[in-house]
Amino acid sequence: MSNGHFNFPQPVNEPVLQFAPKSAEKTALKAALAAAKKTKSDIPMYIGGQEVRTGKKVDIRPPHETKHLLGQFHQGDASHVKMAIDSALKAHEQWAHTPWIQRASIFLKAADLLATKYRYQMLAATMLGQSKNAFQAEIDSTCELIDFLRFNVHFLNEIYKQQPISGPGMYNRVEYRSLEGFVLAVTPFNFTAIGGNLPTSAAMCGNVVVWKAANTQVYSANLFMKILREAGLPDGVINLVFVSGPVVGEVCFSHRDFAGVHFTGSTGVFQGMWKSIGENIAKYKTYPRIVGETGGKDFILVHPSADVDAVVTGMARGAFEYQGQKCSAASRAYIPDNLAAEIRKKLVAAVKTMKMGTTEDFTNFINAVIDEKSFSSIKKYIDGAKKDKTCKILVGGKCDSTKGWYVEPTVIETTNANYTTMCEEIFGPVLTIYTYKADEFDHACALVDSTSDYALTGAVFSQDRYALEKAMKALTHSAGNFYINDKPTGAVVGQQPFGGARASGTNDKAGSMLNLYRWLSARTIKETFNPPTDYRYAFLGEK
Ligand code: NAD
Repeated sequence: MSNGHFNFPQPVNEPVLQFAPKSAEKTALKAALAAAKKTKSDIPMYIGGQEVRTGKKVDIRPPHETKHLLGQFHQGDASHVKMAIDSALKAHEQWAHTPWIQRASIFLKAADLLATKYRYQMLAATMLGQSKNAFQAEIDSTCELIDFLRFNVHFLNEIYKQQPISGPGMYNRVEYRSLEGFVLAVTPFNFTAIGGNLPTSAAMCGNVVVWKAANTQVYSANLFMKILREAGLPDGVINLVFVSGPVVGEVCFSHRDFAGVHFTGSTGVFQGMWKSIGENIAKYKTYPRIVGETGGKDFILVHPSADVDAVVTGMARGAFEYQGQKCSAASRAYIPDNLAAEIRKKLVAAVKTMKMGTTEDFTNFINAVIDEKSFSSIKKYIDGAKKDKTCKILVGGKCDSTKGWYVEPTVIETTNANYTTMCEEIFGPVLTIYTYKADEFDHACALVDSTSDYALTGAVFSQDRYALEKAMKALTHSAGNFYINDKPTGAVVGQQPFGGARASGTNDKAGSMLNLYRWLSARTIKETFNPPTDYRYAFLGEK
């Protein structure tokens, strides 16, 4: 049924629950956590409507309590990727021609299921599987994912409305087709919302998808897949596989019907994908869309006029929430020498109050980092700084893996503006600060712009408008998400479209129209009502 111009509900951001002591939401969440901890999940892959169990099981444990077993998932191989591609291609024709109103309703229903029936289960899954505290889980796995679904329906509807003009005697129109082939969505561990958004944004546009989730996000990805199925997503439209990244890449990037990749993860992996796609370019039926949001080395630049308490709060939250495992996390700060002593003192005092432990204990601000690989890599950076004579650990610096993957929130001060931890992405709770001379703000801007290959997020703190103007100009290409007097994290769908350029990605702004355009292939249709019947133009006559 498509006889009507239908309106969708105007999207508003999902209100964030606060989980204050004795609140109903806190009680409900505690119950969901207890229930999840009592159950052992057996998680299959979802291919063409089938739950596929290979028997090759991988344990899932909370990063903050590695002795506890939450369940297991079934690992697949190249044959499952091929099955997923076949199922997707089989579903394509019917899905691509399903009226928009029907496709949209599925995703709006999924958003509502997540906001109501499954809210606490999803929070519990993210808190236990990815070690996010209640607030971090709420802004990610429920609010942001709900927003992605509702806002993308709204944005796609706006895109569909954009139509060309028509001259006399003709009718022009643009049909926004899906891509010809399948889309591969490869998602990271750190945001349940990104896990949900990458496959659904492409699917919403009529595409069919092979979704490869990170092993360390399978626990919450499984619940989202169940929600999509309950919301009525037809079999084969999104196929969730648990197969190693390189194997998925090998099968998908050499397939003739590969139409695009929607990736979020590290820069190295994305560059490797781009290279294989380039090597296979002659094989494809169509030029594939390559969309990737990757790493960051996000900065805080403090002007001599800044408000110190605002700076310290921006640093504490920006660098240490979710243990610094956000692509947007502040990890290098440039502070002027007139404010350095006060910033140092207040920051160290603030970090010392941060409690670290499990996510079930709501008094913990800091939980564990995701896994052993990450723990070892962060530890190596901290150990290196301990030994380097240009560095001093101002607070933190201890790592302990006896109960979980715990790394203390750590502040390093360096006198070397190009020290490793000022340049490389660490992806952990480590902030490095460098003090510059207060009358050398221009030089500080130049350092921020040139020190790292990344350009994802950054924040400038200043009470001086001329200085802000100067920084905005000098840092035009240093960050895709630029903050003034605020921490560089916490982008909200519909409010701060997210993404960066340079080594941080293709800047296709997740949760905006710009992103959805990448999953559409327009067909222009011109219909002439009274076609000419003689090839000769008037100018051909001599008299
Ligand atoms: P990762 O690159 O290790 O993994 C991301 C995904 O790619 C996972 O599903 C992984 O299994 C898969 N993968 C790994 N190697 C692969 C290969 N050779 N071929 C195909 N797939 C492969 O990243 P992660 O540790 O899950 O996430 C952290 C990274 O993600 C950080 O660099 C962070 O900055 C980035 N990130 C960026 C954004 C953004 O919007 N810019 C958002 C979140 C995370």
